[in-house]
Amino acid sequence: TQSDPFDLVVFGGTGDLAHRKLLPALYHREPVGHLGEDARIIAVSRRQLSDTEYRDWARKAICEHVAEVDQEALERFLARIQYVAVDVAQNTGWEALEEKLSGREDVVRAFYLSVSPDFFGPICSALGEHDLVTEKSRVTIEKPIGKNGKSAHEVNETIGSVFKEHQIFRIDHYLGKETVQNLMALRFANVLFEPLWNAAHIDHVQITVAETLGVESRAGYYDTAGALRDMVQNHLLQLLCLVAMEPPESMAPDSVRDEKLKVLKALRPMSAEMVERNTVRGQYRAGASAGGAVKGYLEELGRDDSSTETFVAAKVDIENWRWANVPFYLRTGKRLAARVSEITIQFKDLPHSIFLPDAGRIAANKLVIRLQPDEGVKMQVMIKDPGPGSMRLREVPLDMTFAEAFSSRHPDAYERLIMDMIRGNQTLFMRRDEVEAAWKWIDPILEHWSQIKEAPKPYTSGTWGPSASIALIERDGRTWHDET
Ligand code: NAD
Repeated sequence: TQSDPFDLVVFGGTGDLAHRKLLPALYHREPVGHLGEDARIIAVSRRQLSDTEYRDWARKAICEHVAEVDQEALERFLARIQYVAVDVAQNTGWEALEEKLSGREDVVRAFYLSVSPDFFGPICSALGEHDLVTEKSRVTIEKPIGKNGKSAHEVNETIGSVFKEHQIFRIDHYLGKETVQNLMALRFANVLFEPLWNAAHIDHVQITVAETLGVESRAGYYDTAGALRDMVQNHLLQLLCLVAMEPPESMAPDSVRDEKLKVLKALRPMSAEMVERNTVRGQYRAGASAGGAVKGYLEELGRDDSSTETFVAAKVDIENWRWANVPFYLRTGKRLAARVSEITIQFKDLPHSIFLPDAGRIAANKLVIRLQPDEGVKMQVMIKDPGPGSMRLREVPLDMTFAEAFSSRHPDAYERLIMDMIRGNQTLFMRRDEVEAAWKWIDPILEHWSQIKEAPKPYTSGTWGPSASIALIERDGRTWHDET
């Protein structure tokens, strides 16, 4: 449906995220008529550019990242865009933004902070000082929210001094992915799964977010963060919450977020001993990826003294009735063997087999929810091999790859999230207490790692990470689900 009129003010309008994600996502809502007639996009950054210069840049971004561009829709879209130069560091240019927004106090005014997190505070303060925050304002912030619990709390305090919690949209783009929402549909729109979704029937859960890319141009930022902060604190824990949460009362934002928060609070805190036993840090070395030779992390960084991890594996326990003794194995890294993000729900073995040994091994059922590259859900079930001979069993997938089930284009996560934000729907955004609870669990891991001072374990680019991560799961008699 068409949105109400809005002004979307994108700070960092000339940045990488705006180029690759935000502008293409917004453009996609144009041909389908979701952008109201009176919707405007106001790009802001430090550079002095005219509207025309910025529109040319935006046109290129869209043509580069959108497969089929409708020229008429593109022109209509570009006509919505205006540009304002504000230098946040120098605190100049705010009057021009004030002028641009004045007289539009009654429309949704959405600020998107696609800039370095160091600017979140100064931007919010300036918006407050210049009286630019209205009743209908909202603010969206990108990750990372802090470097630890304390700094996340400070960021939240600063933003919270200008915006109310219902106006703050903390984006985790994993929550905007179709399959992630399908996980909720699967669990709560079917009777099949929920009765089995507990420790009585599930052996363990695996969550893998594997990239083949290295750190590339983001090395500077990445080296100050590492995989635990960059991926686990937000994306992997959010996925874990959606798998593990109790059925919320409704899809209302706080119903869902209350349940996710309970999961985060139930994560078993990691003692120093557990950190040593249940986590693995890795750093990639030179190797081969996607067919070519690639450099190691330190070479890419241009330094040889970094102990930042580019890989993490962890065994996580959730201390509640539903998940007692059901470990969640998390794993994420760069330069791994394949680009794949998936959640595997491994069910328990049959209590008893009625088949003769020559029927073959009976594999326990497995539900694989894949987020990328090809989004879909697959249920591994046992069937009988066709034919009149003796009973032979075989594992086959009940496959629901969405590209096959639906012919329509697969929207990018940002498309949904930006429109949800404009409409004021916070269901797929993180609430302050969730972010802080996630840090509360992460902080001791970071602390113990820094005390142990052990170098991350090297792994060759193009593999599945350090062998210690394989040992982490195999010592429990289980294996990673590496089928790609
Ligand atoms: P970027 O460095 O490409 O862009 C930064 C933007 O900030 C530019 O438009 C620049 O002009 C603007 N800027 C810099 N200094 C300024 C100043 N003094 N005053 C006003 N504007 C100024 O960064 P990016 O990659 O687009 O990332 C933006 C945000 O999104 C960051 O918070 C980042 O952590 C987050 N993020 C980015 C990605 C990604 O893939 N790029 C992914 C996830 C999160």
